Amino acid sequence: MTEQPDIVIIGSGIGGSTIAAGLAASGASILILEAGGHIEDRPENRDQRAIFQRGHFRPKELWYETDGSGFNPGNYYNVGGNSKFFGAVLVRYRSEDFAEMQHKEGVSPAWPFAYEELEPWYSQAEQMYQVRGALGEDPTEPHHSLPYAFPPIPEEPAIAKVRTRLKQNGMHPYSLPLGVDIDRWLAKAKTPWDAHPNSFDGKMDAETVALALALQHNNVRLQIGSKVTRLETAADGGRIETIHYQQDGIARTLSPKLVILAAGAVQSAVLLLRSANDKHPTGLANASDQVGRNFMNHNSSAVLAISPFYRNDSVYQKTFGFNDFYLSDGEGGPPLGNVQLLGRVSGKILKANMPKIPEWLLDRVSSHAIDFYAMSEDIPHPDSRIMADGDRIVLQWHRTNWDAHLDLVARLKGVLKAAGFPIVLSRAFDKKTPSHQCGTVKMGTDAATSPLDLYCRAYQHQNLFVVDASFLPTSAAVNPALTVAAQALRVAEHIKTRDLAA
Ligand SMILES: Cc1cc2nc3c(=O)[nH]c(=O)nc-3n(C[C@H](O)[C@H](O)[C@H](O)COP(=O)(O)OP(=O)(O)OC[C@H]3O[C@@H](n4cnc5c(N)ncnc54)[C@H](O)[C@@H]3O)c2cc1C
Repeated sequence: MTEQPDIVIIGSGIGGSTIAAGLAASGASILILEAGGHIEDRPENRDQRAIFQRGHFRPKELWYETDGSGFNPGNYYNVGGNSKFFGAVLVRYRSEDFAEMQHKEGVSPAWPFAYEELEPWYSQAEQMYQVRGALGEDPTEPHHSLPYAFPPIPEEPAIAKVRTRLKQNGMHPYSLPLGVDIDRWLAKAKTPWDAHPNSFDGKMDAETVALALALQHNNVRLQIGSKVTRLETAADGGRIETIHYQQDGIARTLSPKLVILAAGAVQSAVLLLRSANDKHPTGLANASDQVGRNFMNHNSSAVLAISPFYRNDSVYQKTFGFNDFYLSDGEGGPPLGNVQLLGRVSGKILKANMPKIPEWLLDRVSSHAIDFYAMSEDIPHPDSRIMADGDRIVLQWHRTNWDAHLDLVARLKGVLKAAGFPIVLSRAFDKKTPSHQCGTVKMGTDAATSPLDLYCRAYQHQNLFVVDASFLPTSAAVNPALTVAAQALRVAEHIKTRDLAA
């Protein structure tokens, strides 16, 4: 490793680690600066009281509303980023998501390229993350040039029973594409994986898959505990010349040829805004005034279906979803969204939200319940914004398309009641759960309206790329990680041919 790396990647989440894997074989010297440390192999990783009741892994950070009130967001800073906690649903956007789509409230804009452009990279990302799945079950499924390399995760009998009932009622449940080696996961402890941190226990996350591949090359290095605080441009305001970061309280700098920002959709926008200088008074890459805008996070709810006659003895539950309301409401109306199983609620998890009810009673309820995740598209809106106010991060989330989400939840409740669950409860996720944050540094064809070009290069700073979920022009109603990974591989190839070939 030379003293100044060729490339510095800021953040080791899905975007940062996947682009590192894509660039590793180029031989360029690559340094990954990661603010956090490793998730260690500790008993708390599978202790639902520690995770959900005591918030053991939740950073103590506060973000703020525009009225000055603070809230504690579930945004994770560790090697592998949020993917260490993710539900590992590694799914493609539907091909229709790349075109303009009329929603109940507003229009989801077209991507600057069609699905076919990303398709080969989706295939590569699925192979890399060893996605388990089955083609041909979901009528909304886009074209795949490669089949999944592994069959779906086996469905537990209590869950298979519900899938059958939904099918009998006209739904089209499909096996969720999942990045989990279930035998390895269960060998450590019999728990679900969604929202449970992974050390190296079989969940295919950014650290265990992409970063591990990248670090097999001795030209790639990871430096933990290194928080980037500012990017500085050359005097003419063009190239990024210096990265300022803090390592164990010591201020340090680096000056690589290329800077790849992948700190997550909130932190990447904040870093660009905080790096304002005389040439860029509103922040770097921000001539379009779009940095921090178009924040999206999905409209989503947990939906709990209960029946005294149904017994749920499953461990991980999360094996199917359905898209019957995805492209339309099922009656020719606008799209409503995706439904997928959550990772099996328990008394210990319910207790976190209902502290006054005894855990034994909640355990009894959960043993007769099955829980779903209803997810609707959040449409980009310029007033949905991340702002930097001194040291504070301010989130003004202007939700869009909420009525469509309420409609989705109502229809899901109807479907579940028809499937034999007389009691169906729901609870919406709010800004304290920014799990699907995206859109804050979007890509587009016009520098006047987008900070990034179609390869995530900043129009104003030719040696700066942003490859985390910030670049997404729309949120669709699909879990984001595989799309971030696919684009990171596409950008890696572009950098190899355009920036490293010379
Ligand atoms: C509980 C949970 C469940 C989820 N389930 C799913 C799912 O099933 N499927 C799916 O597709 N998605 C899921 N997601 C979302 C998914 O995890 C994210 O979309 C994805 O991980 C985002 O990757 P990223 O690269 O954009 O950013 P991040 O994961 O946020 O990574 C950013 C990295 O940058 C580091 N960093 C931040 N600031 C700095 C700085 N200043 N300097 C240096 N480093 C910095 C962070 O520590 C972090 O490691 C889930 C998320 C959560 C929290």
